[in-house]
Amino acid sequence: MRTENVFYTSTRGKGKTISSSEAIVRGIADDGGLFVPDNIPYIEDGLEELASMTYKELAFKIMDMFFTDFKDIDLKDCINKAYDSKFDTPEIAPVVKKGDRHYLELFHGATLAFKDMALSILPHLLKYAVKNISIDKKIVILTATSGDTGKAALESFADVENTLIIVFYPKEGVSKIQERQMITQQGENTSVIAIKGNFDDAQNGVKKIFADQGLKDDMSRNGFMFSSANSINIGRLIPQIVYYIYAYTRLLGSKSLNRPEPVDIVVPTGNFGNILAAYYSYKMGLPVSRLICASNENNVLYDFLNTGQYDRRRDLILTSSPSMDILVSSNLERLLYDISGQDPERINDLMERLRSKGVFSIGTGMRQGLDKFYGQFATEKEVFSTIKKTFDMHDYLIDTHTAVGSCVYDKYISGSGDRREVIIASTASPFKFPRAVLGSISQRLEKEDDFKLIKILSETTGYKVPAQLADLDTRPVLHDRVCEKDGMLDEVKDILGI
Ligand SMILES: *Cc1c(COP(=O)(O)O)cnc(C)c1O
Repeated sequence: MRTENVFYTSTRGKGKTISSSEAIVRGIADDGGLFVPDNIPYIEDGLEELASMTYKELAFKIMDMFFTDFKDIDLKDCINKAYDSKFDTPEIAPVVKKGDRHYLELFHGATLAFKDMALSILPHLLKYAVKNISIDKKIVILTATSGDTGKAALESFADVENTLIIVFYPKEGVSKIQERQMITQQGENTSVIAIKGNFDDAQNGVKKIFADQGLKDDMSRNGFMFSSANSINIGRLIPQIVYYIYAYTRLLGSKSLNRPEPVDIVVPTGNFGNILAAYYSYKMGLPVSRLICASNENNVLYDFLNTGQYDRRRDLILTSSPSMDILVSSNLERLLYDISGQDPERINDLMERLRSKGVFSIGTGMRQGLDKFYGQFATEKEVFSTIKKTFDMHDYLIDTHTAVGSCVYDKYISGSGDRREVIIASTASPFKFPRAVLGSISQRLEKEDDFKLIKILSETTGYKVPAQLADLDTRPVLHDRVCEKDGMLDEVKDILGI
């Protein structure tokens, strides 16, 4: 099946072409660009054939086309270790039909959000990637978190051999549930440290540690190296392609589609990673009519798709879909690279304008490349009424991010009259956002804490509390380190024993 080797190159064009292993280990290119595959493989087999594959079988088929320098046996090991009983359903990513839409549920992993789909495999990919390029070091993942990413990374790296993860979080800057999730984290190779400061302090501290050459030399002598679990890592993007092809082939298998014909795909979008994976699946040959890019009130992408101007010069609005509260969508750079005809000079120019002026525009040539996309956004009020409507009509509970997607799809069909089978990426469990979800379907309870709200949401709807959250308030605390904001380096040295 393997036809061609795929190599990776920076969107900003400097530096040579490298293997997938090297791209995964490096995370981001030295010139500041993102690694992209030098060609997108095409699915040659009939899509019907893929309909009988399990999630893991399909994952191997797709990832093997991109990670061409991995041994089959190693890639299979990564997949087996990633998509196991950490997921609360054997289907991994079930497709649920409610009314006229198919919800692709991506929230059955350890932290109940779609980031688990890629983060659960990344540590294993990293482990083999380091071996493939003959580096003999233990990987250290160091990250500052405002809540969700830290937990997802901890959960994915926990007890993965040859890796170690250190997470700093602002003591007063995360929710009670988020803190509890982190400080009860199991795994010999995990460390969680609260800092006396805010998220910016944590982030700046981590950046300083990464830039500390003395530390890096010490680490190297002692057999350690830093790597990144950041969402721009190609090792997170490629695994996300799998579930779009999985969802499509489930529709074929279930006779929602009688033959391979185009569907629409709706993705609630922040950093543009998840929808970019959908775009790559389309480029691999998946029949897609429109890629519907759904934003919340931070509607930079809506403006961009409709005008060709990307303008981040506005205030960030805090919404009920916090994972989409983003003004600079870093993965958009990969799309721009593609629609510019892979022109690194153009990308350097656009990114420099964004950095220095906060705005850039693309011309008509590049805009044609956006034809596949439709951009819309949902207001907070619309998000809440979409959650309520979906529950009242279908007894189906969706979270705030998924509601952004569903609401935008309503706007798409009422504007275009264009109806076909549609897949909506459902990116988080409603139990992750109990306050907003409960507030939408029944009443706002201001005085109760989130632990209580989870229970009330379950009683009100008849939905079971996911096991991932169920006993959270009684789990033993395993991490109680607290440090000053200028004490972070010492903590890292202490953990590494150097
Ligand atoms: C991260 C996230 C998103 C946005 O995904 P991007 O890849 O950043 O566009 C949407 N919903 C949830 C729940 C998320 O965690």
